[in-house]
Amino acid sequence: MSGIVAIVGRPNVGKSTLFNRFIMERKAIVDNVSGVTRDRHYGKCLWNGTTFTVIDTGGYVSDSDDVFEAAIREQVHIAMEEADLLLFMVDSDEGVTPLDQEFANIVRRSKKPVLLVANKSDNKERRESAFEFYEFGLGMVYPVSAMNGSGTGELLDDMVQALPRETEAAVEENIPKFAIVGRPNAGKSSLINAILGKEHNIVTPISGTTRDSIYTRFRAFDLDLYLVDTAGLRRKARVKENIEFYSTLRAIRAIEECDVALLMLDATLGMDAQDLNILSTVVSNGKGLVILVNKWDLMEKETNTARDMEKVILERIAPLSNIPVVFVSVVEKQRILKALEIAVEVYQEKNKQISTSKLNEVMQVVWARHRPAAARGKFIRIKYVTQIPGKVPTFLFFVNHPKLIQESYKRYLENQIREHFGFRGVPINIFFRDKN
Ligand code: GDP
Ligand code: GDP
Repeated sequence: MSGIVAIVGRPNVGKSTLFNRFIMERKAIVDNVSGVTRDRHYGKCLWNGTTFTVIDTGGYVSDSDDVFEAAIREQVHIAMEEADLLLFMVDSDEGVTPLDQEFANIVRRSKKPVLLVANKSDNKERRESAFEFYEFGLGMVYPVSAMNGSGTGELLDDMVQALPRETEAAVEENIPKFAIVGRPNAGKSSLINAILGKEHNIVTPISGTTRDSIYTRFRAFDLDLYLVDTAGLRRKARVKENIEFYSTLRAIRAIEECDVALLMLDATLGMDAQDLNILSTVVSNGKGLVILVNKWDLMEKETNTARDMEKVILERIAPLSNIPVVFVSVVEKQRILKALEIAVEVYQEKNKQISTSKLNEVMQVVWARHRPAAARGKFIRIKYVTQIPGKVPTFLFFVNHPKLIQESYKRYLENQIREHFGFRGVPINIFFRDKN
């Protein structure tokens, strides 16, 4: 199960502080992808076995202009439509303010579940004053302190409960889903139009009932699949930050629901922090990935332009490797089918199962050629390896001292698995267990 939780509320109530608390552990992992900026306003949170995405809406409004309040109001509307759960945050220290009242009025009309969070309830006195927020008529008030963490466990318990459980009924679960994601203007809608325009055997466009994402089912390369469309739904947001906020929510949703994401870049702009943020969302959700470099027709081409640009992109996404990069021009219909074909291959790779005998035959040579370094005076021996079921290809190595295996050796094993068995465009998990 997954879902999107949006933290809304006026400035300075502590939204980003709570956000950081929620995603603390995950952030460290995701930020391993080099170049990912620190100013992420969304991330994964894991609580009681449920993972969900948290988005800090405050990060998307600049407070430098006079459209400020209008911008926030618009943002709450977007969050209400796009998120699965709202955390409406107020400040126990300041009490009810007119802007809170206004927010409460908007939020009350929302059909989405809302939890009212009274932040800065650092001590008993403030926890008691949080009761005044019952006047909003939004049900239970959660007094928390984002700063010292009190009350946040109980809040998280109830958030997990409040997240909707059902998946989209109209969409068949076991048919692969491909999402086209990327910055506004990269060419996502154009690509979808180009693909669907050509295809005559579109079955049905389904407009999701609860979630409002659009799935289009069609056949390509002997495979029934869905395109998850994030671009088709355009929305008039007046403020630049809100356009970004909206497209971010859309992208997260599409990524969560897909099997393979096609990340579309604009060749004339290269890869920037926003692209990297989307990319790390794809990876941290365990999805397959293809990078499309679009608008290739606009590039002045020297002999090695594509190869050079591919190199630059792969350097930026290190330590990720083995990600297909396809140079396309949607306008000139160049390599569009190739891109789709590669995405289908990535999907197949993601579901590939290597037999234990084949795996060991190859990997025994690999670990004999380069043995794990001895640690704490102990020799480390790998006994055997097997692929176990998982969201992404997952390999379990049985070892005499699993805890002593070094990160660099784990990377060596991953690289060797990729070299011998492929898994292009797919995240791989590696675990070590005691051989007994
Ligand atoms: P945002 O604008 O809603 O994202 O608010 P911030 O997270 O930036 O927090 C605004 C201010 O409130 C900062 O100075 C925080 O340190 C402070 N703050 C946040 N949470 C708490 C809390 O639980 N208790 C107290 N006393 N201060 C807090
Ligand atoms: P989206 O916001 O990602 O859905 O992007 P659109 O599909 O709306 O495209 C944004 C702009 O880029 C439009 O003006 C397209 O005509 C243009 N565009 C899309 N693909 C290409 C391409 O391959 N080459 C060129 N030159 N322009 C393109």
